[in-house]
Amino acid sequence: MEIFHSPKELKEYLKDKNTTIGFVPTMGALHDGHISLLKKARSENDILVASIFLNPAQFGKNEDLEKYPRNDERDIKIARICKVDALFMPTADEIYDKNEPLIKAPEKLATILEGKSRPGHFDGVLRVLNKLFNIVKPTKAYFGKKDTQQLAIVENMARTFFMDVEIIPCDIIRESDGLAMSSRNAYLSEEDKLYALKISQSLAKAGAMIKKGELSTNVIKTEMLSILEPLVVDYVAITNRRFEPLDKIELNNTFILVAASVGTTRLIDNIWV
Ligand code: AMP
Repeated sequence: MEIFHSPKELKEYLKDKNTTIGFVPTMGALHDGHISLLKKARSENDILVASIFLNPAQFGKNEDLEKYPRNDERDIKIARICKVDALFMPTADEIYDKNEPLIKAPEKLATILEGKSRPGHFDGVLRVLNKLFNIVKPTKAYFGKKDTQQLAIVENMARTFFMDVEIIPCDIIRESDGLAMSSRNAYLSEEDKLYALKISQSLAKAGAMIKKGELSTNVIKTEMLSILEPLVVDYVAITNRRFEPLDKIELNNTFILVAASVGTTRLIDNIWV
């Protein structure tokens, strides 16, 4: 595995390689969720590129950029085990220029749910991914369904900018108790984790209700909120695949999305129904 810090050197390494390139962008503090993306990308491409870049542009002023978990040494080991060919670890100075055109995520998708609570977040996500896609020129790029709204916004950018990249959605990896894996889980104490579990439990309950034939989103939401009660809930949303609220569940066309805080840790999770 080669490690690159400068875009120029990574571009040089990738130049004229007449092969398929799989790309997994991350912010580091790698866990089994990231590893599942790396494994899938490894199996589907000749060259595997991963990036570790804690992207300041996607954090709000009062968010957790400063305390976000970092563990470069461990991440490098994991990338090696996952047979990454090129690991890209740039600094913000190497990625951003004060004088650059700024990309704006489409309002309809980016100012609801996560975008409503985190204004400008998706602009920051697209700002870096646009650059990373230009540097890596991946054949396929892998994104977790854990961040379903991000996945949709990235798919939208790739499609509307006519980018030569296929966006591959990957299933959510969970702890054995159901908690969706997240770098932010590192903030949780054992007690916090018991509370955090209520998020995946509320989604599992929603899934079970739907299996039994319940289709009213109001009934399902009420039940979910009662499970989530001890947490500070940001949203419970039941939408179609365009993130428009639904009165009735539409099978194979529904997202159920939750954002809630345990103490100061904000967590998200969702299921596709
Ligand atoms: P992050 O490092 O949080 O930016 O995540 C990098 C990629 O890993 C994103 O595409 C995430 O959606 C994905 N990811 C994070 N957690 C999980 C998970 N538990 N299961 C699957 N993918 C995940």
